[in-house]
Amino acid sequence: MTQSGVAPILVRLRHRPLIAGLVVPWITARTLDGRPRFGTVDADRAAKALHRRWCQICGQQLEDRFVFAMRDRDLDRSIAPEAAMHPECSRYSITACPMLAGRMDHYRTSGQAELFAGIGTILGDPAGQRGGQAAEPWNAVWARDYTVITDPTTHLPAALLLPDQILRVRPIAVHGTPAPPATRHNPTIR
Ligand SMILES: [Zn+2]
Repeated sequence: MTQSGVAPILVRLRHRPLIAGLVVPWITARTLDGRPRFGTVDADRAAKALHRRWCQICGQQLEDRFVFAMRDRDLDRSIAPEAAMHPECSRYSITACPMLAGRMDHYRTSGQAELFAGIGTILGDPAGQRGGQAAEPWNAVWARDYTVITDPTTHLPAALLLPDQILRVRPIAVHGTPAPPATRHNPTIR
């Protein structure tokens, strides 16, 4: 974070549009007149990113490290409901996204153009049941690979992570408290 409170923009993300100093993620949906709506996900782009192994933030090709934002209950199922990110894009998102950074106690109750970034807002909640509920803890899950499946709960494309594909699980700090230490599944992770 800079002194202005706005996360610095990575070189990789400089091609992305900004709203109020925040990068608009590649998977963010747009209104009919083309304006991005933070907190909403374009389902076609989300599916494309999953299948083509593109980063959901910058829209560019992922290589050998896939970072997923997963709630505890996603982790229990080893199913990530959203596309992965580059490690550096995930770090930016964790810094910039008010939801993941713990700056929101509750999910917004309206789906309107609120100013929060795009991760973990719509795809994991297709029925809109999360509105007004307490925010859940998130984890940054590093994986070496994944398989695209149809999530049996949401019937949407999702990433299945096999145990030997998960490299590291790092809880994302919430409410300004330090995150617990990372769980290292593979001590050789760089
Ligand atoms: Zn990226």
